[in-house]
Amino acid sequence: MPPSSETRLAPGLLYIDGQWVPAAAGATFKTINPATEETLTEVAEGRAEDIDRAVGAARRAFAGGAWPKLSPAERGRMLWAIGDRIDGHAEELARLETLDSGKTITEAARVDVPMAADCFRYFAGWATKLEGATVPARAGLFNYTLREPLGVIGQIIPWNFPLLLAAWKLAPALAAGNTVVLKPAEQTPLTALRLAAIAAEAGLAPGVLNVVTGFGPGAGAALVDHPGVDKIAFTGSTAVGQEIMRRASATLKRLTLELGGKSPNVVFADADIDAATRGAMNGIFFNKGEVCTAGSRLFVEEPLHDAFIERLGAQTAKLQQGDPLDPKTRLGPQVSEAQMGRVLSYVERGVAEGARLVCGGARAPGRGYFVRPTIFDEVRNDMTIAREEIFGPVLSVIRFKDIEEVVRAANASAYGLAAGVWTRDIKKAHRTARALQAGTVWINTYGLYDSAMPFGGTKMSGFGRELGQCGLHEYTQTKSVWVDLS
Ligand code: NAP
Ligand code: MG
Repeated sequence: MPPSSETRLAPGLLYIDGQWVPAAAGATFKTINPATEETLTEVAEGRAEDIDRAVGAARRAFAGGAWPKLSPAERGRMLWAIGDRIDGHAEELARLETLDSGKTITEAARVDVPMAADCFRYFAGWATKLEGATVPARAGLFNYTLREPLGVIGQIIPWNFPLLLAAWKLAPALAAGNTVVLKPAEQTPLTALRLAAIAAEAGLAPGVLNVVTGFGPGAGAALVDHPGVDKIAFTGSTAVGQEIMRRASATLKRLTLELGGKSPNVVFADADIDAATRGAMNGIFFNKGEVCTAGSRLFVEEPLHDAFIERLGAQTAKLQQGDPLDPKTRLGPQVSEAQMGRVLSYVERGVAEGARLVCGGARAPGRGYFVRPTIFDEVRNDMTIAREEIFGPVLSVIRFKDIEEVVRAANASAYGLAAGVWTRDIKKAHRTARALQAGTVWINTYGLYDSAMPFGGTKMSGFGRELGQCGLHEYTQTKSVWVDLS
């Protein structure tokens, strides 16, 4: 870890009410560098008591203190300042993210960190634009609406994009005037803690953002159960999303759930083959496949199939896997030993169910949780590897004969997060995009995001949208006001 983060990280502490404090029970846990299997540092294990303190601080900050007194323009400037400070600490944050998560330094520096900064600046602009409406009403009445913050937001995030997903959740919540208790994933807590320090340096008032590190069943569940929390925004597995939805019913919390996917990436025979090859690889190997929108089911039209697989196999063999801090590395280790084990067990299932292994399929020798980039051909859409989210560098290739067949197969999934379409035929591209059940469809590209573009799922991939104006509105509620003018 670079000396700058060592000195500023306040290891083993939670960030509550503007203070770095130990967990009430005094417990800590280790966070591991998945590339070396070495312990990076100890992190505080927050539990129900710590969540209660953090929620109390967030409630006080929402109801009084400096935060609600800020004008929308001042709130916007605060978010803009946080974005600028993220850029100011870009190198340090990218390095910290790489050490904790195993993502390559190239991706962390080019994608995670700049997009996190951009997200804060994008939502900075919205703080002054949360307009209500005047509603035409009966004579003698004046009716208008106010768009108000919800209150205290509990945010629970996973380990695949720790800083970026913290930004996606924090920036709109704060822009709308809420306060937040954030629980990062146990595997990757470091950049969220660093972000809290950066936000404090930018001048964010105590209690507006609290970060409680800890485990899902302890800290996470306590946040979901807490009667002082008005909404839970969650990104993670579908199973935990379902559990959160069940629990949240007790206090009738609002929810947005950003869950898993098994996204189809559809290559028609008339596609630009070079672009589609790059898109297919990017779709499954970006962030070592630990991406909720991973294009993990690659549908290839019959006439193109054999040549495409050959090309894909050859290109995949050239991918450099190894030390994620090396700028030339394209593929880092899986985030944890458990995740590596899960991915490898799916590989075994794929072989057992009769899919043809084109390349990869094993752990790389040496230290670190590296899984070789893996391609299965001759996959059927009903095989386990085509139905369940693997969350690793494992691609299932399925052939198809025509547009009707591929749309049916692509939609025959419990999930509906994202999809890709590759064709030079503009009508086919848009027809397919409309027919696919997904929150996002990419045509002749894959995996693009923008702070202004709404993102979210359908079906078992969850509900609610992040980013864009839709993402902002998820953190507000509308109040109707009636005035008697007669
Ligand atoms: P997960 O359990 O869903 O973790 C996501 C977050 O939820 C973490 O912060 C986790 O805490 C927390 N959590 C766990 N149980 C909870 C509970 N009962 N109440 C409240 N919060 C809880 O995901 P995972 O176990 O890390 O990964 C398992 C699988 O989920 C992956 O293989 C992948 O398929 C999927 N996944 C999807 C996404 C996505 O972006 N959609 C992201 C990550 C994983 P701790 O981890 O700290 O215990
Ligand atoms: Mg770690």
